[in-house]
Amino acid sequence: MLGEGILKGMAETAKNFAGSFVSADRLTTVQYPEQRIPTFENARVFPFLVYDGPDWAAGMRCVACQICEKECPPKCIYIEKSRDKKPDFVGKPQFYPARFDIDISVCMSCQICVEVCPFEAIKMDTEFELATDDRFRGLLLDRQQLAKSNEYYHQIHPTEAGEVDARLDAEKAAAAAKAKVAAQAAAKAAETAKTAPAKPAPPAGGED
Ligand code: SF4
Ligand code: SF4
Repeated sequence: MLGEGILKGMAETAKNFAGSFVSADRLTTVQYPEQRIPTFENARVFPFLVYDGPDWAAGMRCVACQICEKECPPKCIYIEKSRDKKPDFVGKPQFYPARFDIDISVCMSCQICVEVCPFEAIKMDTEFELATDDRFRGLLLDRQQLAKSNEYYHQIHPTEAGEVDARLDAEKAAAAAKAKVAAQAAAKAAETAKTAPAKPAPPAGGED
C-alpha cells in the first residue's frame, strides 16, 4: 500500500512519544550536553595519528608514505616528508612526517585513510566536540594535535586496537627472528674467512 512505510514509522514514533511518559526505555533522546549516551566502540568521527611510548614525536607510527594523502577523496590531508630518518617500531630507519595536517572542515569521515595505511598509523577518533569560532586555522589540525597514544586507541576501540597490537607484535617477532638469522650467518661467514687458508700470492710479472 502506498505510504505504508510512512504510517508504520509514524506509529513507532507515536508509540515512543506516548510511552516515554511512563517508561524510561521509550525515552530515546537525552538532554545533551548535560546528559550523554555512551560512545559506541565502532563510532568514527575524524582521524588521529597513533604513537607508541611516552613521546608523541618519537613514537609516531606514520612513515610519511603519503598513501593516505593520495587516496583521501576530498584531498584534506597535507604531508611533508622529513629529510632524515628515525627508527620505526621494529627499529628500521624510516622517514616521518615533518608536517601532517588534516583539514577537518573538509574531512567526510569516510575512513579510507585508515583502510589504506599499511602501518596502522592512522585511526578514527570518537571525539566529536570540536566546534570552534575560527573556521579556517581552527579546523586545520597539525600533527601534534592529531597525535594520540596507543593507550587512548585502546580506550576508544579496545577490540580493534587489541587486534592491531597482536599483528604488530607478530611483525616485530618476525623481524627479530630475521635479524638473528642474519647475524648468525654473518658470524659464520666471518669465522669461515678467519679459518680458511690464505690464497697464494700471484707470481710477480705474470701479466706480461
Ligand atoms: S576520513 Fe576520508 S575524508 Fe577524512 S581524512 Fe580520511 S580519507 Fe580523507
Ligand atoms: S598515516 Fe599511514 S598511509 Fe598516511 S602517510 Fe602515514 S604511514 Fe602513510
